[in-house]
Amino acid sequence: MVEKKKVAVIGGGVSGLAAAKAFKEKGHIVSGFERSDDIGGVWEPSRSYPNVQTQSPKELYCYTDHPMPADYPEWPKGPQVHAYLHSYADKHGLNELFAMNTTIRSMDRRGGGAHGWTLTLEDTGGERTEDFDFVAVCTGQFSDKNIISHPGQEAFEAQGGKVMHSSDYTDPASVAGKRVVVLGFSKSATDIAVNAANNGAKAVTIVYREPVWRIPYFVGGINFKHLLYMRAQEIQFNGWGSSTLGKVARALFKPLVWANFRGLETLLKLQLGLSKYGMVPKAPIEKDVSCSIPIVTPGFFEGVKAGAIAPIQGTIERYDGDNVILSNGERVEADMVILAVGWKLGVPFLEQAARDKLVEADGQYRVYRLIANPDLPDMGFVGFNSSFCTVLSAELAANWLVRYADGMLANQPSNA
Ligand SMILES: Cc1cc2nc3c(=O)[nH]c(=O)nc-3n(C[C@H](O)[C@H](O)[C@H](O)COP(=O)(O)OP(=O)(O)OC[C@H]3O[C@@H](n4cnc5c(N)ncnc54)[C@H](O)[C@@H]3O)c2cc1C
Repeated sequence: MVEKKKVAVIGGGVSGLAAAKAFKEKGHIVSGFERSDDIGGVWEPSRSYPNVQTQSPKELYCYTDHPMPADYPEWPKGPQVHAYLHSYADKHGLNELFAMNTTIRSMDRRGGGAHGWTLTLEDTGGERTEDFDFVAVCTGQFSDKNIISHPGQEAFEAQGGKVMHSSDYTDPASVAGKRVVVLGFSKSATDIAVNAANNGAKAVTIVYREPVWRIPYFVGGINFKHLLYMRAQEIQFNGWGSSTLGKVARALFKPLVWANFRGLETLLKLQLGLSKYGMVPKAPIEKDVSCSIPIVTPGFFEGVKAGAIAPIQGTIERYDGDNVILSNGERVEADMVILAVGWKLGVPFLEQAARDKLVEADGQYRVYRLIANPDLPDMGFVGFNSSFCTVLSAELAANWLVRYADGMLANQPSNA
């Protein structure tokens, strides 16, 4: 008999919704907390840059019991994903479980040797504490902006220049007639560069350290899902727990796998014109790819070719008046600098003693299956991993976490 628990779910994005539904379904009493005024996380409109769309095809970016609407495109736009998440919350009665505009400020082990955690919550009424038997941390990988600055920024801003994090670029009208510099080379950097070029920016420069492999939505005319999301692709990478037979087969097929990746690189170089723009990554593609490999922003290489987007390899060193000075000594005139430099992974509200158990000295997180650390009882994570199908992996993690919380896993991890 599983004991009914009082469960807190922190975060109302894809992962928080999956966790709230999974715990509710098993009869637990769920309280969700979301610091913004709406559910959706990165898909919430005030946090999305214009024209954002999924990298995953719609049939892989949805919960298993709730397909995306048939009239959605293959790669839905941000507002469509947001509406979809709302429809999922409506379907499962999740809205009433979540308190909006409520930020978790701290999470401490309950006193007196009791199980569970005490959360300090801040909402419009001020701060209060509440005890929970179990906490699902679903705050995502995009909650804590990586804020950087460069010498001379204050003077640059004082003379009218604007510097912002990529997540604050929400108004395409703001770039009209402006000289825009985007720092970074992730998907958000190239998305914003294309968006600025299409919305009347006077000049767009993208400054990046190293070229990286990126996959177009269509590789040689084939939807990338038919190349990437298949077992024949997966077995080309070393997996965990291979049998002896598997290892022998891998050794035998190694030359074929090598040739396959060289073929893919050649195709990408030709299709995207990487050599022409000096954008051929140094690392072989099979070493570079991960679950966070970016998809090519439609229009990016076309923009580079047309001269609407100027790519420069390097980084920003400092500002001088209305100039951005780059590490290669180049000066770029700018009115607006958009820093697409990512986010910091962390659990800033977790008490220090617990954080010491969670994070190794070198910054690695100790989380079994990226979900739980038995040294930190009565808590776990959903959405702590990168994935090409985050909704599916969040749902999987959420269901695993409920069984972990209830002690119902066939192989219950322990700290013994
Ligand atoms: C532009 C963009 C495109 C993407 N496209 C894809 C894609 O195509 N496929 C894919 O698989 N993944 C994609 N991703 C990754 C995406 O992050 C995940 O798919 C998913 O949306 C993450 O959901 P999450 O709930 O884990 O995190 P989030 O969406 O970040 O939600 C976390 C929530 O926690 C809240 N929160 C944080 N701290 C606190 C606190 N202290 N108290 C209360 N609330 C708090 C935040 O406000 C936020 O609402 C994309 C990401 C971005 C940014």
